[in-house]
Amino acid sequence: MQTTFEHAPYTAQRLTDGVWHIEDATRDRPPGLQRDGSFHGPGSVYVLEGTDAVLVVDLGFSYPGHALREIVDRLADGRAIRVALTHNHFDHTGALPQFQDVPIYVPVDDPVPGVAHPIPVRPGDTISWGGLSLQVLDARGHTAGSVLYYEAQRGWLATGDAFGSGYAWLFFLPDVLSVYRETLRRTLDFFRDKPEPLFLCGHRYQQQITPVPGMDPLTPRNPDLGLAYLEDMLTLTERILAGSIQGRPYEALGRTDLLTYTYGRAEIDTYPLGSAPLSI
Ligand SMILES: [Zn+2]
Repeated sequence: MQTTFEHAPYTAQRLTDGVWHIEDATRDRPPGLQRDGSFHGPGSVYVLEGTDAVLVVDLGFSYPGHALREIVDRLADGRAIRVALTHNHFDHTGALPQFQDVPIYVPVDDPVPGVAHPIPVRPGDTISWGGLSLQVLDARGHTAGSVLYYEAQRGWLATGDAFGSGYAWLFFLPDVLSVYRETLRRTLDFFRDKPEPLFLCGHRYQQQITPVPGMDPLTPRNPDLGLAYLEDMLTLTERILAGSIQGRPYEALGRTDLLTYTYGRAEIDTYPLGSAPLSI
């Protein structure tokens, strides 16, 4: 099979043996600033290949039609399909209507309404299925129930938006930076005696593997996300909590009182310390 193909509105690309990345972008509609002045920020879907099954991690934005399912069916090539969701944001569950015939792993603390065949998963669980074995790790911060899926044999780590894909959005929980600091410490601890995993992040274009027109030039480029990125995230989180780093104004979700902080290869966008969280 080719290693890259388009099936509008998506492009599928084989990242490594057994891992496909699918995003809602094409040559005609690339990530970033468009000719009409709008900004296109695609979401990432991954297909992990087991021996007799495939696991789809996240479902991207909502589009009419069945294009995502058609791509997954093509990659599955007759193998059974299941879906695992990292968290319950709309840009990770959009194609749910195309996958209502298959079991879907849903984090218990990030419930997703309307899933026909949900399998609740909690941190500490292991999903063993179809030749894949994925540990479910607690990564709360971006949302209350965000999880990571880690395939230890192959070194794959699907992160959703838990660590961002170059920058993290920490808007939705009270005292979110303290929660996030614990998630980073726990994750770095978990990987201390393990090889560097392959990060499969929720918005891969934000890593700026190729430069993205219209991205803030101060946002760090992260073509190779790894544990060093999490170390920088932890340092940044600690410095924000200590009040020893200066934020810049940041606008998102209709709010103008937000702040963005950078350190090394990490960026965190959040509400001012002591303020109330936002709802999405
Ligand atoms: Zn999210």
